[in-house]
Amino acid sequence: MATKGNLSAVLRKVDDLSLEERPIPQPGQGEVQIQMQAVGICGSDVHYWKKGRIGDFILMAPMVLGHESSGVVSAVGDGVTHLKVGDRVAIEPGAGCRQCSFCKEGRYNLCPDMKFAATPPIDGSLCRYYCHAADFCFKLPDHVSFEEGALLEPLSVAVHACRRAGISIGSNVLVCGAGPIGLVNLVTAKACGASKVAITDIDEGRLNKAKELGADYIFKIDPTKDSRDIAKEIENSLGAADQTIECTGAESSFHTAIYATKSGGTLVVVGMGKPVVQFPIVDALVREVDIRGIFRYTNCYPAALALVASGKVDVKPLITHHFKLEQSLDAFETSRTGAGGAIKVMIHCNEEYQN
Ligand code: NAD
Ligand code: ZN
Repeated sequence: MATKGNLSAVLRKVDDLSLEERPIPQPGQGEVQIQMQAVGICGSDVHYWKKGRIGDFILMAPMVLGHESSGVVSAVGDGVTHLKVGDRVAIEPGAGCRQCSFCKEGRYNLCPDMKFAATPPIDGSLCRYYCHAADFCFKLPDHVSFEEGALLEPLSVAVHACRRAGISIGSNVLVCGAGPIGLVNLVTAKACGASKVAITDIDEGRLNKAKELGADYIFKIDPTKDSRDIAKEIENSLGAADQTIECTGAESSFHTAIYATKSGGTLVVVGMGKPVVQFPIVDALVREVDIRGIFRYTNCYPAALALVASGKVDVKPLITHHFKLEQSLDAFETSRTGAGGAIKVMIHCNEEYQN
């Protein structure tokens, strides 16, 4: 096997990300080999780079980063019938064991044996060639770009969050945080039929992007202010939120999210901050506010793709920066600092950048 030809962005240890030539992998049974095209940088990639761990997932050995991705099928393993060489695909980065009760019930995101790209110890897809389970690759229609294909990953988080929130026609929705995840939740809530969506952030630039993407109300938050007062202010414009989707991970925002959700409403917690926080449990329980967590997504890629392919959501405005694979370090630095108003930073993995 050739030991070169697969330039890969490898995280060796905390703060040590560099490019390395690795062998080109060959597809096993049920897998396809993909010539990678677009890979978006996610906050978790940056977190592994700078901290080496997220919760119990700890970087113990060098690992390729990247999991928001798309490419072109370049080889097909045995048993694969629905894809062929040349197909353009979006890659759903995690596959469950297919055997446990969670997998069988369709909640494979809860599978204890989940293998998820760029979650230690599984290599990610920020490289030239990558092999993946074919049933977790989704063929892109010609008019859906590779970048949009990569963005199906965060969009699937939003599909799962909006489904678990029960957003539907006429909903009044509050989204806390206008980072990439808050923004995809905004556009997905609208696509679910929400009539009004309010969004918060502490950053003016991100709120402006939210406005561009269709937010009805934007709130610049001063996190030192009392959360009840902030919630009141939101309620004065939006009304009480039928559903709230928390996408900051900040404790104070979690408080605002509870206070701003209407009695009998639902709060979905997406943001991952401190593992243990204080929260106003009595206020939540006496008003029967349902608090639900989400972890990634399950069976959401087809809906995310349909949203993009039908034109019901436009994720392209999230993309602010482009880099080549060789410039991965610059790309990560841009994503980490948010320099130049960075929201979603895209890396293009092959020399001839196509879209
Ligand atoms: P991000 O850091 O880019 O966005 C967070 C946004 O929240 C930023 O724009 C920040 O300015 C804003 N913010 C911070 N404090 C705030 C406050 N007090 N009030 C209002 N806004 C505030 O991150 P992201 O990529 O958009 O991801 C958002 C969160 O979702 C992260 O915590 C991430 O770990 C989490 N996440 C969870 C899942 C899951 O499966 N549960 C999946 C993906 C991401
Ligand atoms: Zn399983």
